[in-house]
Amino acid sequence: MNADRIKDSVTGLILAGGQGRRMGNVDKGLELFRGKRLVDHVYERLAPQVGGIIINANQNHDAYKTFGVRVVSDAIGNFAGPLAGLHAGLSVSRRPYLASVPCDSPFLPEDLVERLLARLNESGAELAVAKTGDQPHPVFCLARRGVLEHLSNFLKGGGRKIDAWYASLAMVEVNFDDRAEAFSNINTREELANLEEGTSEDGNTEAETTAETGTHAAPAIAAAAAAALERLSPPSGDSPAGVTSGDALARVVSCIEAYDPNALRVEKAREVIRSLLVPVATNEKLAVRAALGRVLGEPIISTLDVPAHDNAAMDGYALRHADLKAAGETELRLAGSAFAGRAFAGKLGRRECVRIMTGAVMPQGADTVVIQEIVQTEGDKVRIPAGQKRGQNRRLAGEDLAAGKAVLEAGQAVGPAELGLIASLGLAEVTVRRRLRVAFFSTGDELASVGSTLKPGEVYDSNRYTLYGMLSRLGCDLIDMGVVRDDQASLERALKAAAADADAIITSGGVSVGEADFIRELLGKLGEVVFWKIAMKPGRPMAFGKIAHAGNEAHFFGLPGNPVAVMVTFYQFVREALLALSGRTDDCTLPLLQAPCACSVKKSPGRTEFQRGLLARDERGQWSVAPTGAQGSGVLRSMAQANCFIVLEHERGSVKPGELVRVQLFDGLI
Ligand code: AMP
Ligand code: MG
Repeated sequence: MNADRIKDSVTGLILAGGQGRRMGNVDKGLELFRGKRLVDHVYERLAPQVGGIIINANQNHDAYKTFGVRVVSDAIGNFAGPLAGLHAGLSVSRRPYLASVPCDSPFLPEDLVERLLARLNESGAELAVAKTGDQPHPVFCLARRGVLEHLSNFLKGGGRKIDAWYASLAMVEVNFDDRAEAFSNINTREELANLEEGTSEDGNTEAETTAETGTHAAPAIAAAAAAALERLSPPSGDSPAGVTSGDALARVVSCIEAYDPNALRVEKAREVIRSLLVPVATNEKLAVRAALGRVLGEPIISTLDVPAHDNAAMDGYALRHADLKAAGETELRLAGSAFAGRAFAGKLGRRECVRIMTGAVMPQGADTVVIQEIVQTEGDKVRIPAGQKRGQNRRLAGEDLAAGKAVLEAGQAVGPAELGLIASLGLAEVTVRRRLRVAFFSTGDELASVGSTLKPGEVYDSNRYTLYGMLSRLGCDLIDMGVVRDDQASLERALKAAAADADAIITSGGVSVGEADFIRELLGKLGEVVFWKIAMKPGRPMAFGKIAHAGNEAHFFGLPGNPVAVMVTFYQFVREALLALSGRTDDCTLPLLQAPCACSVKKSPGRTEFQRGLLARDERGQWSVAPTGAQGSGVLRSMAQANCFIVLEHERGSVKPGELVRVQLFDGLI
């Protein structure tokens, strides 16, 4: 679709229907900011992206009518939130798509609509939602007009939460990490004043969903955390001697509004972890093949032009475009031929052409290839029809890779395609980050090692085996420290040894309430660790922080003891953190797909649940997912039978058969 058709197919909706409670019940959109009303900023950014604009407001209609656009009130409730606004917009909009933005987002991306629409159409989803990091921004979304009916039913059923609504339909999230600051919204007068002075365009410390718009200010948390860290932590690099994080962790979590270690949301835990990671920075040189699975330590700069010469993109005749008549046929003389690997030796004379095959080097003097199907030949006469474009069917030298340009960036993982690309440049060695060193051990007096006979009350230590499996797949260097008994001296010894040597330490067991006391004390002594009860099932208790010994500092992940909880917390928090620590700079989170759930699933709102699921095709070839049997957090069999987690979001209630749910494949798609 060209740019104008994109514009014409989309109506923009500015959501200005909130009460502005946190600003003292003012109409936010009308607040002045840098000499204009907030809504003026938003209008100016949105208008060039859409065919027309509607404003949703529940008061001061005249003030919003200054743009000469339609202003609509909610049809339901009394300041019922962004969904009511979206409903009002969809009810009156006539274009096939509706793009909504809140009135307090003066920095919204100039390419918001284009990118949302592209993904929506690519994926076939009903709704595209912008996200940065892990955080969706539900009010920055683009919907097909057809979702109106679904939304009306949802609202009739009493639904008001935008996240819950969009979780109930085919939705695709669109990454805007490159524009994280653009989603800052303004909730308090203080924030407005700060921004007014230009002191912190992204310094919004708001963390919670705002009552008015449901906009998350996740980038602001990350920015606040990063700012706090910059003041408190060493610059990134291999943990320098004797450095501890001091009270960095406390400062970071204190930046998060409504931080509650007793009911921490999954996304918040991820953010805190992410903001405290100090990735490996040491490089090593490896032969190309040995670099498979590693992380590039330096960009790969092209040493050559690829292709090395101008060459033909089609089989046909190479000629000089200037020889062609402006109108009518031109007759040229056939001077020879050029094949891939065997170039035409001479130089093209006036009114000459050369028979050429795909990939063959363009003869000197030729700039255009005419495909063989439209050419007439007779002996050495070649007749070329009119209407040929200069440069057609010719690939230019350096078109794929230009000498001196970066072809791969530091922080990218080396997979099969990257190996080939590196080889295509003739490079024999690659600079990669050193491997991440991960120490891990199990804790518990009841644990027996495999191969021994179980005594009464004992269980075999399985967590060290699942951890071994998961860590091996990430390509870490492993330090298996065995089983450590639940006593202070043994734990202290193990933790110190691990902290002296590793970049990350992973333990299982011993973080639940009953057990935590002396461990808490011990970890406090060795570093800075917080104990969380995460609003999730399974995997509620977890500890995270850093511990230091002998001049080294290691990231610490204290996982629960239950075997399934170990795997869930690993996949949800540790995997992504370890990849970032290894130097990866891309988004390493496991993708969330959507699939209909084959049966009903019980779930209460207020925590994120990770059911073990099997995503499979039925006899008609349709994909659906179903939980795998008993879901107790000790039942490893449910993991072994599963190929994915069914991720039931925090706000979500029970699932009916056929409802769409999010699915996270354990090992990605390939
Ligand atoms: P904890 O978190 O230490 O209270 O452990 C919770 C449950 O997980 C208990 O039933 C433990 O026996 C079990 N558990 C802890 N560690 C392991 C392990 N390494 N392998 C198997 N089960 C474990
Ligand atoms: Mg235990």
